[in-house]
This record gives sequence, structure tokens and C-alpha cells, in this order.
Amino acid sequence: MVTKNGGKPRRQSLVVLLMLMTLTCIGSVGFSQSIDSPYEVATWQGFRSAAVSFTFDDGTPNQSTVAVPMFNEYGFKATFFTVINWGPNWTALQSAANSGHEIASHTMSHASLGSISTDQYAELRNSQDAINARIAGQKCLTIAYPNCVVGDKALCSQFYIAARICSGQIEPSTPADFMAISSFVCGTQGSIQRSEDFSNKVAAAVRTKGWVVFLIHAIDGESGYSPTSSTQLRGALDSLKSHIDTYWVSSFVNVARYVKERNNVSVKEIAASDSTLTMRVTDTLPDSIYNYPVTIRRPLPSNWSSVTLTQSGKNISGQVVVENGTKYLMFDVVPDNGDIALRKSTATAIGSSFNTVPSRTMLMPNYPNPFNPSTSLEFQVSSSAFVSLKVLDVLGREVATLVKEERQPGTYTVRWDGSGFPSGVYFCRLHTGSGTETKRLALVR
Ligand SMILES: [Zn+2]
Repeated sequence: MVTKNGGKPRRQSLVVLLMLMTLTCIGSVGFSQSIDSPYEVATWQGFRSAAVSFTFDDGTPNQSTVAVPMFNEYGFKATFFTVINWGPNWTALQSAANSGHEIASHTMSHASLGSISTDQYAELRNSQDAINARIAGQKCLTIAYPNCVVGDKALCSQFYIAARICSGQIEPSTPADFMAISSFVCGTQGSIQRSEDFSNKVAAAVRTKGWVVFLIHAIDGESGYSPTSSTQLRGALDSLKSHIDTYWVSSFVNVARYVKERNNVSVKEIAASDSTLTMRVTDTLPDSIYNYPVTIRRPLPSNWSSVTLTQSGKNISGQVVVENGTKYLMFDVVPDNGDIALRKSTATAIGSSFNTVPSRTMLMPNYPNPFNPSTSLEFQVSSSAFVSLKVLDVLGREVATLVKEERQPGTYTVRWDGSGFPSGVYFCRLHTGSGTETKRLALVR
């Protein structure tokens, strides 16, 4: 190294040393992700902007009679942390498990772990065994510490892939410590009481691409800690459902598994021709636990109009999404589950062979709104149509044309960047053969 300043090389080598140390640290928390260009692996399933988990502790009766049916209605999966010695309603828990909800450990006795008199091994191990013996169709893989008192993390990590505390923080997209995942206490004793309180935390998680975990005990008038209003909870679920392409709502264990797989996954394109791409998605994690699908996308090859997608010869589903004018193939795959083939198809429509065809053509509410400087506009098309998507100012003058072409059935997302436009109200207008829909946007600086 040639330099005029004797002090400089030393500083540079210090910088290099710091970089090496940083890389070593990242390696130690499990990053070995390796992804061939032009593939991308989503931070959150479906390339959504945040993960949201609802967790329920202590097994109060209204959790199975009110919460489970409500979550089923919305198609969301929740987590139920169960205290074995409190005589759980195993029939109700099995029924919840059958609907895809997670049944997990809240220890044997609900004693605070970490107190000297507690046999932590028995609390951790026996509760897991009891749930595995009683609940068919899933494994008990996560735990909530009783009274939010952190237990012996090293011991805990021998049995569980994630453990929950209640310190009221939003987790980053990769939590620093899976044995102490934070959550927000809901209900009368907590900070989350109204639908708006849920929504504000979820919006904050979007800003950091983070993971927000809610902790609910009693529901409505039943006895139990910190009751949460089912009306307010329903309002929160309504709001999440209306932005389903922004928020990934899933159980605690599914989000934990997703993060670990995403950070470990290897995506390789092993063969490519004009009409077929073959790829391999693997990880180095135990397949008996880490078998949750991760979302991958790549640009649609330019001369392809349609795709068939298979893994180990079986059809898997996917979508075409548009972002910043690029058409992507987006699909979910379980790592280590066989090679994936993307085949150019002669089918007339992407939707018929690849997409889930939407039931009707419509424009969704944009997100975020208000926004600064850009917002996502999503629309779905139920049958092939010439589509125009325009942004108008408050006087009805066109300020941007985002889409003006034939579109196949599918769901599309387009971003509008309002940089350079004045603050104020705008209108987004979707026009197809079947009609016109308009939504109001607010650009606020
Ligand atoms: Zn508890």
C-alpha cells in the first residue's frame, strides 16, 4: 500500500479488521444464505413488508370459543401457549391444531423460570413431551416463558427453536436472540387495547421490515389476566386482512422457521435453456423441523408469456407480480424438497396455468396511505383485459400512467413514486373493459 500519510494504512487495516469481525459475527448467528442471480429470497413470505404473530397464553376458555373461530374466519394462524398442569382442553387444542394453529409450551407449572427452586429441565422438557403426546399433526417447537421471566436460554434452545418474552419491542427481520423474542401485552393491563393500537405497532413493523408479536390472555368478560376486547381484536384482524399483501400474519413458529430458513437457504440455477430453468433450493437445517416454504422470485424471462412450475415433478403454485415495471415469477418452495422446474408454457394465459385467478377485477387500497414519497398500488384482473392504471390530481388531470396494456388474469402491484409532485390528494384510477374504480391517495410531506 502506497501512502503519503504514515497513519493511514494503520487506520485502513483497522477498518478491514472491523469488517472481518462483523462478518464473523454475522456468520455466527447463522447467515449462510447463497442466492444465484437473478433470484431473490423474500424477507417475509410473499415479499410482504412485515410479519405479525398473535400469541395466546394460559388457555382461557374464550381463546377456543372466540379467538380460534375468529382467526379461522380470517384465515390467520395463531399460537396457543399451554400450561400442562392447568388441565388444558386438549380436544379444543387439537381442533385448533387441525386448523393450522400452533399449540406450544407455556411450561408444566407456570413457575417463573430462573428462580433457584425451579427445575427448568422438567418445566421445559416435560411440557414439550406432553404436547407432542397429546397433539397430533405438529411438533411443539416454541415456548413462552411464564410471567415473562427469561429461563436458562442454553437449556431452552436444546428443546425449542424460539422463546417469547414480553418486553414490548418490535423484532428486526432477523432477531438478535431467538430465545428472547419480544412481544406486546394486549388488553386492559397492556399497551395494546384498541384496534388502532394493534395497527400502529403493525405500521411500525413495516417501517423496519420487522416482526411484531402480540400477547393476549383473557378475552372479553371472562376471568383471566388483562382481558382483550374481541371487538377490538376483530378490528385489528380486519385491518390486517385489508392489507394482506403487506402483512404476513402467521404463527410464532412459522415466522421463526421462516427467518432461519431464509437466512440459511441456497438457491442455485443448475440448468437453463430457452424453455426450461431448473433450480435447486437447499438449506443445512434439519428437515424434520425446517420444512416451511420460503418465497422466491425471479424476473419472468422476456419471451415467456406463461409458466408451469413443478417441484419433484409435482405442480406448485406461483404468481406473476409486477414491481417497478418488472414482471416477476413468485413462488413458495420447501428447501430440500427436490429440484424445481420453471417451464415456458404455451397456455394462453398466465392465470390459467400458473396464477390463482382472482374472482373479480378490482383496485385495492394503496399502501401506505398517506405516503411519502412512494406507495404501492395493487389491482387484480379476473379475465384478460386491456388495463389502464393512472394517477390523477385533485382537478382530475392525469399526472402519471402506470399501466396501459393487455393484462392476463392475476394480481399485480405497481409502485408510484410521488417525488417531485406537490403534497396533496391524488386519485388512482383503474380502468378495464368491465368498468372503472378509483381510490383516493394522500401524499403528505
Ligand atoms: Zn402465562
